[in-house]
Amino acid sequence: MNPMLPEPWRVKVVEPIRLPPADERDRWLREGGFNLFRIPSEAVFIDLFTDSGTSAMSDSQWAGMMMGDESYAGSRNYFHLADAVREVFGFTRFLPVHQGRGAEHLLFAGLVTSPGMIVPSNMHFDTTRAHVVTQGGVAVDLPIPEALVAGSQHPFKGNIDLARLTRLFEETPAGRIPVAMLTLTNNAGGGQPVSLENIRAMSALCKARGVPFYVDACRFAENAWFIKQREPGQGARSVRDIARDIFDATDGCTMSAKKDGLANIGGFIASRDPSLVDRLAQPLLLYEGFPTYGGLAGRDLEAIARGLREVVDEEYLRFRVGQVEAFGNALLERGIPIVRPPGGHAIYIDARAFLPHIPAVSFPAQALACAIYREGGVRPSEVGTSMHGAFDPETNEPIPAPLDLVRLAVPRRVYTQAHLDYVVRVVAAVWERRHDIKGLRWVHAEGALRHFTARFGEVD
Ligand SMILES: *Cc1c(COP(=O)(O)O)cnc(C)c1O
Repeated sequence: MNPMLPEPWRVKVVEPIRLPPADERDRWLREGGFNLFRIPSEAVFIDLFTDSGTSAMSDSQWAGMMMGDESYAGSRNYFHLADAVREVFGFTRFLPVHQGRGAEHLLFAGLVTSPGMIVPSNMHFDTTRAHVVTQGGVAVDLPIPEALVAGSQHPFKGNIDLARLTRLFEETPAGRIPVAMLTLTNNAGGGQPVSLENIRAMSALCKARGVPFYVDACRFAENAWFIKQREPGQGARSVRDIARDIFDATDGCTMSAKKDGLANIGGFIASRDPSLVDRLAQPLLLYEGFPTYGGLAGRDLEAIARGLREVVDEEYLRFRVGQVEAFGNALLERGIPIVRPPGGHAIYIDARAFLPHIPAVSFPAQALACAIYREGGVRPSEVGTSMHGAFDPETNEPIPAPLDLVRLAVPRRVYTQAHLDYVVRVVAAVWERRHDIKGLRWVHAEGALRHFTARFGEVD
């Protein structure tokens, strides 16, 4: 491994964290129904639940917060954000929203206009899928086969399967595919990047069919960094240029600023189609707010504008992606089965390989996530049968997802190497006693986004 430079920042403000004693952790787990969504954050020592909205902001962003212009219409911070969106993404038309799913709501409500319309993607994120389905559409995942092989070392496991996409286009009547998506990086598939070649090829296919091509841009900067590191011919180019190339190939994007916006809240939808932006401004007014604030305070708009420029800084990205990679390598050295190569924002443990004695219907990933919390107060999240599985409408029994993963998401600029070393020791301790871990079953499960609120019990 290359010697890693330390964090490219120094600490100016600290937030105390505490490890609750073991009996307390056990009690929280039982009271929370073995669902880590239902545990208060004060009961968590190292919170790797998500990288979403958990970034530490820079001194520049905090200074920008003080410059918030809270005018209802035409806040100066809106214009700062418009400048950043044009500079980093190349889009001149956009609408701010309260977070990424606000953008998904507008896009799919605007484009999925009749039941059964198909929206293909490399892999839909859970809120993306839920919004497509809520509009009566069908969300189709077309990952390359390597994406489903946890041990595969393909450099761009986030790629969409172009042959299957071509077939879908051929088999589907014109007009039944209102939009095609590409998630950068592929969160549900392990935080894996998509190559520029794949993005451009998909763009060409969509153009030929007249299908609008949108990117779910949550982690666009991390994806661009991987392209620079891994794609032939891209190594000498800047992340900013690569990012522009990505978006030049698209018709628009949805963005959660809670990820690569380095902000705690916010997002936007951008489009090259001015009539669509005008049309979406109506539901925006109804559900989010006036088009120059979109459900956000002026200070939030400013934090995002500054965050979007900071996130394409290459020293930041070198550390960011390097920290996650070193974390993954440390787990691999202990023999822990993770999705390889490590993703950009998280390490994903292959729970079926970790707990082969627990069948997929007994939620091995949920069980492993709970065991990691119980062991050391570390909170991972489940990305498996609870989040992405289905259920039998007759019996309400779970139908397993293709993969059962435990995600250790690394918040941006929050934890040091020492924190992640501790997490490695915790996961290694769970690995040592993995045979004692029990499966789970639903005690209460309701709705399409049931993983947020479900309660589980241990299977004896
Ligand atoms: C987080 C996320 C979203 C939704 O964004 P929110 O800000 O959480 O609403 C959509 N797509 C992907 C890939 C995400 O990671």
